[in-house]
Amino acid sequence: MTLLKSFEELDYSQALESSTEAQKWLEKHGRRFGQFINGKFEKRKNAELIASHNPSNGELLANIEVANASQLDAAVAAARKAQRKWQALGGHGRAKVLYALARLLQKHTRLTAVLETLDNGKPIRESRDIDIPLAIRHFYHHAGWAQLQEQEFSNYKPIGVAAQIVPWNFPLLMLAWKIAPAMAMGNTIVFKSAEQTPITAMFFAHLCEQAGVPSGVINIVNGDGNVGASLASHDGVDKVAFTGSTAVGRSIRQSTAGQGKKLTLELGGKSAFVVFEDADLDAAVEGLVDSIWFNQGEVCCAGSRLLVQAKVVDKLHAKIKKRIQKLRLGLPLDKSTDLGSLVSQTQYQRVDQMVQQGLQHGGELFQAYDGQSDGNYYPPSLITEIDASHPLAQEEIFGPVLVSMTFRTQTEAVALANNSRYGLAASVWSENINRAMDVAPKLKAGVIWINCHNQFDASCGFGGVRESGFGREGGKEGLFEYLKPKSLTSTKKLKPVTIKQQTSSDETIDRTLKFYIGGKQVRPDGGHSIATYKADGSLASLVGSGNRKDIRNAVSAATKANAWSTQNGHVRAQIIYFLAENLALRESEWIKRLQDLCGITKKEAKTEFNASLSRLFSYAAWSDKYDGAVHNAPYRGVTMALPEAIGVLAQIAPEEKPLLSTISLIAPAIAMGNRVVLIPSQRYAGVALELVQTLETSDIPPGVINIVTGNKGELADQLAGHAEVDGIWCWSDDVTVAKVETTSAADLKRLWVHQEGDRDWLDPQQGEGLEFLRNATEVKNIWTPYGD
Ligand code: NAD
Repeated sequence: MTLLKSFEELDYSQALESSTEAQKWLEKHGRRFGQFINGKFEKRKNAELIASHNPSNGELLANIEVANASQLDAAVAAARKAQRKWQALGGHGRAKVLYALARLLQKHTRLTAVLETLDNGKPIRESRDIDIPLAIRHFYHHAGWAQLQEQEFSNYKPIGVAAQIVPWNFPLLMLAWKIAPAMAMGNTIVFKSAEQTPITAMFFAHLCEQAGVPSGVINIVNGDGNVGASLASHDGVDKVAFTGSTAVGRSIRQSTAGQGKKLTLELGGKSAFVVFEDADLDAAVEGLVDSIWFNQGEVCCAGSRLLVQAKVVDKLHAKIKKRIQKLRLGLPLDKSTDLGSLVSQTQYQRVDQMVQQGLQHGGELFQAYDGQSDGNYYPPSLITEIDASHPLAQEEIFGPVLVSMTFRTQTEAVALANNSRYGLAASVWSENINRAMDVAPKLKAGVIWINCHNQFDASCGFGGVRESGFGREGGKEGLFEYLKPKSLTSTKKLKPVTIKQQTSSDETIDRTLKFYIGGKQVRPDGGHSIATYKADGSLASLVGSGNRKDIRNAVSAATKANAWSTQNGHVRAQIIYFLAENLALRESEWIKRLQDLCGITKKEAKTEFNASLSRLFSYAAWSDKYDGAVHNAPYRGVTMALPEAIGVLAQIAPEEKPLLSTISLIAPAIAMGNRVVLIPSQRYAGVALELVQTLETSDIPPGVINIVTGNKGELADQLAGHAEVDGIWCWSDDVTVAKVETTSAADLKRLWVHQEGDRDWLDPQQGEGLEFLRNATEVKNIWTPYGD
């Protein structure tokens, strides 16, 4: 026998990790866990129980009590009570606690990894080498951010009490992603584990005791979706951070509408894995192993959609088929296992059913095993001969199933990759860095990996766009999800503005100020107009009353103006400066107008006008300076955090300081490359339309700014329901805000909502700056390893 032959025929023997310590720990706790509230472990005799099983063999690990309503109340109350003191402890005090947690987790790495593998079914190699080390890294990294908080975030304060809900695929890692940044920034927490995998969260609760986490800072409750739903909509919670399915994320968006809570949603995905003909195909195959067969494919950002350039598809498929036959599907505790068990029988059936039903629409299935393994072991699978509209190419399977399609050109690759309602992640495989760097910004996703997949680190933001949710976890960008500006103190709530509507036929000559759509002044589709009045009660102007068709036209114009989003900052800056220059020419006219409309003194009007000019200058200045970061992740490569335009941004303007607030919204949005559909102040709607003459002379390309006036509540709701609107900024009454939050849940638009009167627009701390720029952009993290 040749050496090569004996090497090829080598077989593995089992190398099982011991579960003795883990079983002992479960026994010590009577294989039953309750809740961790206000620093104490609470058990209830007659509690409803959920059994947590080892999914690979059905063994009962422990019974978990479901938290009841009064326990939830107690957990939220404990978090509320602890928050002020936790904040007052200061960055260094909090850093010490986070550091202690990191050290304790590190000390118990092996035990935690075994508990995770027992509970979830994932291979011990992955929990030991990936999940737990990344969780530890998260606590270390955020101990650092706590330490630096006073220097780096001096203008911000914690949000308060955070409700955090996680899924079962990375139980402890998701806990770390949620708890570490929230704690570091001075928030307190009520955390809910996933009902399938609650054990490592309970282990972590014991570490909290040892680490000296003050009572009430971290509360951990257990239970199913009902407990999650009650927690998310609980009155005492200020922020909800949810990771899980898009369907549940949508329901949380709806159930929290109008409650004034800050929300982060990390949802599902169908991420593209794009292989160009000039890729290193062997590396791409290994990338697929890390991408779709890592964690049995139960990964939100799994590269589940393989897009291959047609020339190399046969070669690549042959390599994939060969490789997956070598993957070891087996006991999770075996150190040489590549794929363990799916998390539950339910999940196994879900994956299997999806695949079987999907195949009825066509497609060829290749599985490395015959699919008959006992238990919840699903074989690594490849599906070919399908097209982009096939259900298996569109829906998240959340199992080890790769679907493959081909493309011919780079343009087609980008179009196919973006042909998804999701936008979590993607990877680009090419040995030509020019090509990879050209494609990465064109992909609609929050994370892009170049020649790698599924790389994570605490220093790099993670999160999606579209129906993959909004918000980031990790990186400096993730910390802002747990902070709010110190300068905002107002809680004033205004009632909806009532308007008087009149038809243009009331007048012989139609003097209605027209909308501004696609660079042209256009009449309202319905022909209706609204009267706006001066401070003395006399008629100021008639403005159009927009309807659904006007909104459609405005959004369509904004969509077409997409070249603005790739325009460079230098050009955008020049145009905004020029807009300021042209506005300055009309100073006396504007001062008079503002005086008449708002009933303010000449001095006050001049102050508002000058502040408007200054604001335009500020954002012209920022246009080429708000430029992202290179994150310092522990690998050989660079991770670029690029702020990108959100796209089509709908802006519902506030009522007060009509000129200044309009400019305060439009300027940061266009400076960052967004195209805007503005619904101006209702009382002073003419102000935005009077601005059109200046916009027209300022080289702003058609469609970049569009203005439709009318009933703010109705138009805001129409924009919230429009599929081509990517994000909404809304300053309005609480009824409109709640409506926008509810309607936008359909496609999970990114929102920035406010009650009227929440800020003083004249104050540069409140009316301009980084908060606006952050909300005008999405951070895309592009991972680029280097070296051979
Ligand atoms: P899931 O949405 O069913 O459950 C997630 C969590 O939400 C669980 O704790 C569950 O108890 C709770 N929950 C269920 N219904 C709820 C409700 N109405 N209100 C509040 N909470 C509720 O998701 P899952 O099946 O556990 O996890 C798989 C999904 O999670 C996949 O879609 C996957 O893509 C997604 N995921 C996303 C990320 C990410 O970072 N984007 C990470 C991991 C998993």
